[in-house]
Amino acid sequence: MTETTNTKGNILLVDDLPENLQLLSNLLIKLGYGVRSVPSGKMALRTIKVKQPDVILLDIKMPEMNGYQVCQAIKSDENLRDIPLIFLSALDDTFDKVKAFECGGVDYITKPFQIEEVVARLENQLTIQRQKNALQEEVKKRREAEEVLYQSRALLSSVLNTALDGIAALQSVRNPETGEIQDFRCLIVNPMISKAFNRSRQDLIGKLVLKKFLQRINPDLFDRFVEVVETGKPLEDDFYYPIGKSSWYHFVSVKLGDGFAITVRDITSRKKMELELQKANRKLKLIANLDGLTQIANRRRFNDYLAQEWQRHLREQQFLALILIDIDYFKRYNDHYGHQGGDDCLIQVAQILQKIPKRPTDLVARYGGEEFAVILPNTNSEGALIVAQEIKEAIATVKIPHLKSEISEYITLSLGVASLIPTIDLKSEDLIAQADQALYAAKNQGRDRVILFKDGM
Ligand code: GH3
Ligand code: MG
Ligand code: MG
Repeated sequence: MTETTNTKGNILLVDDLPENLQLLSNLLIKLGYGVRSVPSGKMALRTIKVKQPDVILLDIKMPEMNGYQVCQAIKSDENLRDIPLIFLSALDDTFDKVKAFECGGVDYITKPFQIEEVVARLENQLTIQRQKNALQEEVKKRREAEEVLYQSRALLSSVLNTALDGIAALQSVRNPETGEIQDFRCLIVNPMISKAFNRSRQDLIGKLVLKKFLQRINPDLFDRFVEVVETGKPLEDDFYYPIGKSSWYHFVSVKLGDGFAITVRDITSRKKMELELQKANRKLKLIANLDGLTQIANRRRFNDYLAQEWQRHLREQQFLALILIDIDYFKRYNDHYGHQGGDDCLIQVAQILQKIPKRPTDLVARYGGEEFAVILPNTNSEGALIVAQEIKEAIATVKIPHLKSEISEYITLSLGVASLIPTIDLKSEDLIAQADQALYAAKNQGRDRVILFKDGM
């Protein structure tokens, strides 16, 4: 048995008298074929199973198994039946060509051989065999590709069907003459989209619905989607569309072919939370700036507002006025009417003070203890004096009894007034100090009065 590996083709020679084939075998090896020779049908069947040849040359007249029988055995084996089989017959043999073809042979050669004929017939079979192999390889590759395609389609559809976000793909519909995008057609819509917008998928797929739909939500959006397609720049935003329990959505859209893909997420609960948080924050800020007892602005708000107005008046070079107010003999009031009585009195005074300044920019605040302050933007000394006087009179009019006051039967106030145009050499504390000095003077001069700050006080 001879064996050679080669590129031209592997040939199995089967003959009970191998020396008959020695010449042929040598010639074929020289031409570059791989050749194996075996002396019997049985050995042929065994060696075929070890390594399949590309073509078998099979003698007919052999002891034990003749060529027809070997041929039948090969053809009845599923794995071997495709190997082409060429019969060899001597001229004196009673060779039945019909039987040879019937049992599966593809060709025959009569001895003695003419080498050119043998090679031509072999090459014929090898070419067919090579083409068959290439075809089979092609079919196998296509099957594998189809399987991959099928699997990725299955994956895509399971992602689309189970996604918690709405997913859609839309294709541009262009004006055939101008090429402009007129609308978008839905190509893919997942169940989440049809659920969110309360429309069946049949109602959406293939339909020109986007322009009309967007007109109800936000007409600007249509042009922005056109921009996504024309520029390739992704677009991400929120939109409001109340339907059922949901009203806020977030979307991301990216260019896809001549159209775009979009994912839409219901963010209603997040939005609601954000809005509630904003409301709570506003309330908190309000509380942080209010005095707990009197419910007017507190010291913190006073400080912030004075700093802010100081800067503005410095820029605009306008008069900024401040009134500091102190209740007279309030310690005695507390001692006589009790702490609760004192608190009630503070609340009442705050209410009265609050009503006097008329401009929306004026601020009345509790400065501390039984002291109040009024910030009067764009107000000179004369204006501030008028407001202070009005406050003093308003308190007098209400006549809150104060049996222990040394100067009146009722609650009275001492008020210090100051007004100046801020300069870079001054600070807001200077304005406070001036009003405080005026208040001190009011106390010293007998209380229940308004005093305006003057230099050299
Ligand atoms: P003057 O005429 O000089 O202002 O005398 P006064 O007693 O009003 O001044 P003083 O500063 O000696 O006393 C202020 C008092 O105000 C002390 C305290 O008993 C009272 N007071 C301060 N804050 C509160 C408060 O929140 N509630 C109550 N009930 N009393 C307060
Ligand atoms: Mg005081
Ligand atoms: Mg006082």
